[in-house]
Amino acid sequence: MGHLKFMIKTCQRCVKRGYQVPEFTLEEKKTLLELKVNQKFMQVIQEIRTLYDVEMIDAKFSLMHINEVYGKCNRCNVDYLKEEYVECPKCKSLNFNWNIKNK
Ligand SMILES: [Zn+2]
Ligand SMILES: [Zn+2]
Repeated sequence: MGHLKFMIKTCQRCVKRGYQVPEFTLEEKKTLLELKVNQKFMQVIQEIRTLYDVEMIDAKFSLMHINEVYGKCNRCNVDYLKEEYVECPKCKSLNFNWNIKNK
């Protein structure tokens, strides 16, 4: 049984449509980030779809936009991102800039 809370997010660098992004809990963020850092991409997608009732394409959108390093854009060399779901000022890529270590 999945949770039902979603945000709609868009990335200017990807297709300009909205995707469903679940409102992940801190624990879920930790798990997903660790999987991504370890390059277990299919597991990230599986985990998201187990927890939340989203389509494959939405889970993949989340996977692609999670920052591996807090503050560092997932696409370019910008390393001063502060907000949580933020568009990079340089490359316009959306970043799931989860601040996990300070919480
Ligand atoms: Zn994107
Ligand atoms: Zn960038």
